[in-house]
Order: sequence, then C-alpha cells, then structure tokens
Amino acid sequence: MKELSAKVLVLGDQGVGKTSMIVRYAQQVFNDNSTPTIGAAYFESFEEVGDRRLKLKIWDTAGQERFKSMIPMYYRNSKAALIVFDITNSASFLAAQKWATELHQHIEEKLVLFVVGNKADLSKARKVKQSDANAYAEMIGGHFREVSAFSNEGIREMFMDLCVKLIHET
Ligand code: GDP
Ligand code: MG
Repeated sequence: MKELSAKVLVLGDQGVGKTSMIVRYAQQVFNDNSTPTIGAAYFESFEEVGDRRLKLKIWDTAGQERFKSMIPMYYRNSKAALIVFDITNSASFLAAQKWATELHQHIEEKLVLFVVGNKADLSKARKVKQSDANAYAEMIGGHFREVSAFSNEGIREMFMDLCVKLIHET
C-alpha cells in the first residue's frame, strides 16, 4: 500500500476550540511531543483512502497564537491548513482573515485549506452567518465546514474530506 504523509496546520484565535477538535479526531494516537520552543504541539493519525495510507501530522498551536503570529518553522513543509473560528464569536471570524494572511505570507505552495466554524452545538448563540463564512472561504480558495468538537458533529467527516483532498490535490 502506498504511503503518504502530510503536515496539517491548525490555526485560529485562542479559545476557538482548535485543541478540542484535534483531540476529538486524533484521540486514538496522541503524541505528547509538545515543543514549547516553537509554541506548537504535534499529533499523528493514520487513514486509509482507497489504496493509499495517509499519515496526518497535525500541528496544534500551544499558546503562541495569542501573539497572532507563529514562527516561520511552524509553517514549513505544510500541505494543508485548518483556519478555525468560533461561530459565536465574530472577532474570531475576523481574526480568521488575519490568520489566512499570515499563512500566505509564510507559504507559497498550494495548500488544501479549510475554514472551520467550530461550536456548532451553540448555534442559538450564533454570531457568524454560514453564508458569510462560506463566501469568505471561497474567496481565499478554501472550503467552509461547520463542526462541533463538543458534540463531535462533523469532525470525522471534515478530516476524512481533508484526506481525500490531500490525496487528489497534492
Ligand atoms: P484552543 O485555544 O483553540 O485550542 O481552544 P480549546 O480547545 O482549548 O477550547 C477552548 C474552550 O472552548 C474550552 O473551554 C472548550 O471546552 C470549549 N470548546 C471547544 N470546542 C467546543 C465546541 O465545539 N462547543 C463548545 N460548546 N465548546 C467548545
Ligand atoms: Mg489550544
């Protein structure tokens, strides 16, 4: 079976649920290789898609995101990025645009990009319209997904979608 591996970045403001999303998805394999020097933590997960085995190397931020900037090494050799916001927090959605800019300043290669609205379980307190998030994702060449790390809604589907796109687009 052909093996591929891909580095996946997870960006977004503090508190949007990045770590919760990753832990929800990658709970089967947890690599506590926290690297405080670069303000990141690293998770691994394996998926089979068709005749391919794909290793996702998921890079979480570890507090560094409060500076709204990660060091260049964090971005190196990444193939995909999830830019996460909280659907109940408009500021976190505005910040997604800042994260997308930051990302494109560090990476010139084509990336598989998802704009992810987390906390879908709190849709009664929604502050960000799905249509706005969708339009924004399209504008930056990404795909919009709404998920909940809390209820687990859409999490696995999103990561599987990501795997399929990684195999087809990179
Ligand atoms: P990070 O700073 O982006 O890594 O965010 P965390 O994963 O640490 O989550 C921040 C807070 O949001 C925590 O209190 C989580 O329990 C909460 N949280 C994360 N995801 C969800 C979600 O989908 N729904 C709800 N209601 N709370 C969430
Ligand atoms: Mg975190």
